[in-house]
Amino acid sequence: MDNNQLQITIIGAGVSGLTAAITLQNAGYKVSVYDANSFVGGRVKSDLQTGMILDHGFQVLLDAYPAVNEFLDIEALKLRKFVPGSMIYMNGKTYRLGDAFRNRSFLWSTIMAGVGSLKDKWLVFSLSRKLKQKSLQDIFSSPETSTKTYLENYGFSTKMISSFFTPFYAGIFLETELATSSRMFEFVFKMFTEGNATIPEAGIQAIPEQLASKLPLGSIHLNQTVSSVIGNEVTLENGEKFHSDYTIIGTIAGNIVPNLPKEDLLWHQVTVLYFETDHTGFDEAIIGLISNEEVLINNFHFLQDIFDHHRNVISVTVIKKHPLNDLKLAERVIKELREETGIVATELIQLYRIKKALPQLNSLNYCMTASETQLTENIFLAGDHLSNASLNAAMLNGKAAAQAVVSKIESGVLF
Ligand SMILES: Cc1cc2nc3c(=O)[nH]c(=O)nc-3n(C[C@H](O)[C@H](O)[C@H](O)COP(=O)(O)OP(=O)(O)OC[C@H]3O[C@@H](n4cnc5c(N)ncnc54)[C@H](O)[C@@H]3O)c2cc1C
Repeated sequence: MDNNQLQITIIGAGVSGLTAAITLQNAGYKVSVYDANSFVGGRVKSDLQTGMILDHGFQVLLDAYPAVNEFLDIEALKLRKFVPGSMIYMNGKTYRLGDAFRNRSFLWSTIMAGVGSLKDKWLVFSLSRKLKQKSLQDIFSSPETSTKTYLENYGFSTKMISSFFTPFYAGIFLETELATSSRMFEFVFKMFTEGNATIPEAGIQAIPEQLASKLPLGSIHLNQTVSSVIGNEVTLENGEKFHSDYTIIGTIAGNIVPNLPKEDLLWHQVTVLYFETDHTGFDEAIIGLISNEEVLINNFHFLQDIFDHHRNVISVTVIKKHPLNDLKLAERVIKELREETGIVATELIQLYRIKKALPQLNSLNYCMTASETQLTENIFLAGDHLSNASLNAAMLNGKAAAQAVVSKIESGVLF
């Protein structure tokens, strides 16, 4: 059969599904992508309101991710870089802590910061040297423990863990216990020391939009929920059925393939709130952290520090669970900001509660091999949840599933 006559279906126009589609297209195959949403990107979404870029959750692209250069045109994304550090608000004081080897302006403020001891600061330096030399393969084959235990075993003081590592990594793992696997900690720490945390100038959704723009018009079908895939038959929620020679599922397969266990994944949730503020920002793209177990706020940043000509808007992330409704939560966040940082937030612009932000995974791998993505004779799996919750894993697993399909078509076997 002519390759172009093969029906290859991808379920999910998230970063993983789109990467699978691009990989297949580059190998000379035509694909059809179906997504339940009215937009591409899945969990990577931005709302563009007059003069404002509001991402659904504070989310950064670490430009050291190996998948970045493979799939993204970072010049075109015009990435805005965060400085390698943070402002820490603790006990009425503010500390500017960061990687002085990459940004000299952090040198004195970091040495003098009352966040951890000098030994702690030395340990941060020794850990970054160690992880720079540790390969990704070694990181993802190391024994797993919780991030908290890992940091304790490395010798960090309780104060350093509670005042810096907990707020900083809670904002990344979206959980405050640092129960996330030490493999993820080592991976993210390595990526932070080898590159920058960035956001495209048009917001985080510019990433999937750039991926989608590489596919032919008409190949992505939005507002189309797939209700099942059985063998070669795909059924949409509207009852339409069609034949698919090969199908890649770029989301939780248990919800779509009968006889698989239903989705039993637990998810980390997060809420992000955007407020008007008279504060003009920090004059640099830097993350603010509040080191106080009593407060709900985890981190914040000013959009005018990131995006050119942006209105004065503060983005605040809340990770801890709480019983508050939107109005009460906004009031509480405004109060905490004023009391803990002196920053005055005024009107609430937008609040997003993201219930399924990051999958809670027990054992992490870096990414799937092509053969591991095969579920049945003609169904293949992709998505970050198969490996680790990151854009890197989403892209690499999309690629792996696509390579598996190509291999199956061209040689009848997997790698
Ligand atoms: C708040 C937040 C912060 C994050 N922070 C970071 C960060 O800083 N750095 C980082 O690297 N990663 C971060 N992530 C994780 C990153 O966004 C994900 O790893 C990545 O987007 C996963 O992509 P995916 O394609 O695997 O899944 P998804 O984005 O979930 O895509 C799955 C797609 O499948 C579609 N779908 C599901 N079921 C069906 C169906 N039945 N029929 C049709 N379509 C269906 C969905 O609509 C969706 O579009 C964050 C995520 C969130 C939410």
